[in-house]
Amino acid sequence: MKKILDIAVIGSGLAALNFADTYTNKGKKINLISFENKDLINSKNKNELKFLPSQMKGKSINVKNFFSANSFELQKGCKVLGSLEFGGLSNYWGLQMDNYFNKSQKISSKTLKAIENHLIKLLNKFQLIGSYVKKNKILYKNDFHIPDQLNSLTLGKKNNYFNCEKPILGFFSQKNFKGNLNHINEEKNKLNSLNFLKKINKNKRINILNLYVKKILKNKKKIELVCVDRNNNEKRLKVKKLVLAAGTISTTKLIADYLNFQSEIKVKHHPRLFSIFFSKKAIKSKMKFTPSILQIIRKSNQDYFSADLRPGNKMITNSIEEFYPFIKPFKPIINYLNHRIIFSNILLDSKDSDIYMKKINNKFRIYSKKFIMKKILKKKNKKIYKFLLSKKIVYPFYYTHFPGPGADYHYFGTIPFNTEKRLSVDDNCKLKGSSNIYVVDSSIFEFKKNKYPLGIVMANARRMGSILSKIKT
Ligand SMILES: Cc1cc2nc3c(=O)[nH]c(=O)nc-3n(C[C@H](O)[C@H](O)[C@H](O)COP(=O)(O)OP(=O)(O)OC[C@H]3O[C@@H](n4cnc5c(N)ncnc54)[C@H](O)[C@@H]3O)c2cc1C
Repeated sequence: MKKILDIAVIGSGLAALNFADTYTNKGKKINLISFENKDLINSKNKNELKFLPSQMKGKSINVKNFFSANSFELQKGCKVLGSLEFGGLSNYWGLQMDNYFNKSQKISSKTLKAIENHLIKLLNKFQLIGSYVKKNKILYKNDFHIPDQLNSLTLGKKNNYFNCEKPILGFFSQKNFKGNLNHINEEKNKLNSLNFLKKINKNKRINILNLYVKKILKNKKKIELVCVDRNNNEKRLKVKKLVLAAGTISTTKLIADYLNFQSEIKVKHHPRLFSIFFSKKAIKSKMKFTPSILQIIRKSNQDYFSADLRPGNKMITNSIEEFYPFIKPFKPIINYLNHRIIFSNILLDSKDSDIYMKKINNKFRIYSKKFIMKKILKKKNKKIYKFLLSKKIVYPFYYTHFPGPGADYHYFGTIPFNTEKRLSVDDNCKLKGSSNIYVVDSSIFEFKKNKYPLGIVMANARRMGSILSKIKT
């Protein structure tokens, strides 16, 4: 072990990259740890994993690497996933973020305000598509159009049961964007890690180390990282300051191991049901992969379930066929009906979470206990269906599919802000009891009303990059 690094960030997803962007703003350099090697771990097992979302087709090896490198053992039926590659799950996300931030964590109003300011700066810097309006005040505007028949949900009479809102979309807007989503260049303008890195690393201040982290150790006042390189050799790094942005599942495991935390850890998430409604009027979308363009959110502090609405696209019809091969002969009809399909994710409040993690015999087991979410989700779906029916938007039939616990891919809340517990961070995301370990991914948040949390995660990571860049090492 030779050089001591001033700072290292574990991860290269959108949390890590947003941290790096503001950290390097005034000339500082930073090291990101991100593993890239397709054939190293588990190379004997070539079978495709069956439970991956359609965006991740062909990416089984990265998911297997994630489980293997992190010593995870997944209970059968539990659909939690992660991906050990540049960008992680940020490469595959569904491209919508909530355009509001509700306070469901124990942080000061000053910190809350700072996160909100960074969200607005992020929207402005990257000219993302969508608007941020607070108490009728427009804080950012780059609006997009939605089909006429859905406008009836956002305009006119107030509804006491549901709120309908347009999200912010994960696309950089190209010049002359006038609100028509069909004109977006999906590949070039998608907010994913590679496109983002191109924009922020023109000065080459971000150095990427091709390693994965097996263990974090305390070494006097420094932190020691036990890593593995692409040739499967162990490599140790000493760092003065460590920032974890490895995604909730991996970050939590690394921290629990570091603290020798043996108890069960509850992972919060938003249980999901896929639902298909059939629109009375055609929706013309040319996008290969459409983001959700409207969210319907239950107005209740007790139960923030929600549904998003997404025009049909080829990727969705292909995945329907994957789940139900017997519909193959009807595929031409389904493709023809594509422009009538409204695809929806019904997402539950985090109070219905059912994922846990525990260290057992040097492995981290990930499991569910109750498996009752399908029933709850179906009830909520009926409420959404009746709402859409009452607005004369859909025909009187629908189709649902429950993908399993964890297949919402939103994992959070394991190392929350300012609690009594050992797994906790302060307002500046510093791990309790430590002077130099910070957590900047979803692990620290409680997303109750917010169902598409990446915007807030990125905004907070930017806040922390800016704060830590001002602290001398
Ligand atoms: C199909 C899908 C759709 C989604 N849709 C949405 C959406 O519409 N809106 C939304 O807000 N969210 C969505 N999400 C969730 C979103 O993708 C995550 O919130 C986001 O990826 C979190 O970013 P992150 O940077 O914290 O973590 P990740 O993107 O998971 O990145 C983690 C990084 O850490 C690295 N890593 C992990 N373990 C180790 C290790 N031991 N050593 C070294 N590196 C490691 C990984 O390689 C990766 O670079 C979706 C997720 C999926 C899968």
